[in-house]
Amino acid sequence: MTLPDFALARPDTLEEALALLGDDQVPYCGGTELLLAMKVGLQRPETLVDVKRVPELRGVRSSHGELVIGGASTHDDLSRDALVREVLPLLAEVEAHVGNARVRVQGSIGGNLCFAEPKSDVATTLIALDASVTLQSSSGRRTLLVRDFIVGPYYADKEPGELLIDVRIPLVATRRGAYVKFQVTERPTVGVAVVQDTETGACRVVVGAVGEIPVWRDWASVADIDVEELSSAVDPVEDLTGSERYKRHLTAVFVRRALRDLERSS
Ligand SMILES: Cc1cc2nc3c(=O)[nH]c(=O)nc-3n(C[C@H](O)[C@H](O)[C@H](O)COP(=O)(O)OP(=O)(O)OC[C@H]3O[C@@H](n4cnc5c(N)ncnc54)[C@H](O)[C@@H]3O)c2cc1C
Repeated sequence: MTLPDFALARPDTLEEALALLGDDQVPYCGGTELLLAMKVGLQRPETLVDVKRVPELRGVRSSHGELVIGGASTHDDLSRDALVREVLPLLAEVEAHVGNARVRVQGSIGGNLCFAEPKSDVATTLIALDASVTLQSSSGRRTLLVRDFIVGPYYADKEPGELLIDVRIPLVATRRGAYVKFQVTERPTVGVAVVQDTETGACRVVVGAVGEIPVWRDWASVADIDVEELSSAVDPVEDLTGSERYKRHLTAVFVRRALRDLERSS
């Protein structure tokens, strides 16, 4: 597995980066997925446009009731970031357990979402948190919910000329949450996120990794959650990590564990 030839562009500004993008000129951040896809011949871009120097894609801040995370932030950055740890410890904890040390140091939150890898902890958690993404092209900017952005396995709602600038998560003081996963390889076999608004009691449960895209349900209270309905709703992909039946069973077990952890959380 050797990398095919490619050119590398390293723009310093958003405008430069956007002007460089095209069908054969693709964004490159940590390269954990892209370089692998190129090595096995699934992608053969002419130019990789390195987005890591673009200021708009860097850093974490709180703005107008949202946590705004630059698209090039790595999993490691987010697991250690003081603001994330303070206002969204659930996300910091999930990020601290993504893949392996190399993937966490190189891989970005934007790359994770844009690649739409089905076995993602990050997408599952962000859907539970009702996060959205900001996409910018040279003709404008649009925002969409992560749950709408992930359209299918390895397929996000993104045009070749668009960059994922940031991920935005509403900051809700009365929210609590939990995430549990089971894995036998470097990627999760099943991941379950549950987030509840303690004021209204409303909660969302999201099951990821087990099927091609995350599945979520909203309920008015924890007591209303129908674990059997949820484990029937997922569409498990049978692979070396388990059969469809086994993964459906795992889903029910891990939804119950997530609910147990939610009850223990503050
Ligand atoms: C061995 C391994 C284990 C993993 N384990 C886990 C796990 O346990 N949990 C989990 O959630 N994930 C896991 N992952 C996925 C990991 O999170 C992603 O590989 C990583 O975050 C991708 O980010 P990147 O910056 O490397 O993306 P790249 O490889 O640079 O890019 C991926 C894709 O996104 C596009 N892209 C990147 N950034 C942008 C942007 N800002 N705007 C527009 N398009 C962009 C690229 O063009 C490319 O198509 C694993 C990956 C590997 C290789």
